[in-house]
Amino acid sequence: MEGGKKVLAVVVLLVVIVGAVGLILKNTKDRNAPPTPIMKQPIELIDAETGELMTRSLQEWKDGGMQENRYKNPNTGKYTMAEPIKCYSCSEVIPMPLLPNVDPNTTPPEDMPRLSDERTAKKNAARCPKCGGPVFRSLGP
Ligand SMILES: [Zn+2]
Repeated sequence: MEGGKKVLAVVVLLVVIVGAVGLILKNTKDRNAPPTPIMKQPIELIDAETGELMTRSLQEWKDGGMQENRYKNPNTGKYTMAEPIKCYSCSEVIPMPLLPNVDPNTTPPEDMPRLSDERTAKKNAARCPKCGGPVFRSLGP
């Protein structure tokens, strides 16, 4: 009788453990489920001329091509689609101003300080098309 109870207890314990492990594995699997492929992810861009917001997949934006960091607006055929950002002054959604690219991977090290300064100066000079105020919080002098 005693032995039978013990076996039953062990079996119940095993079932609980297997169940718990299964649950953990399932959760891990769900969390590691492949995300939407990057090229299919919807990206919202804003037209720098009209302020129109448009959502397309990254693939569709790339297919349209890019000039000077602006994607092509499929309706107007102009390269005016920019990353939307929030204006520091009025919190409205506005197009990201054009700034010099400072990429440590592609920029020669000797050009980095000059380009960084240029970028900071352009950021400080950027004015919002909606409120006319500074787009970014002032960085440095
Ligand atoms: Zn503004």
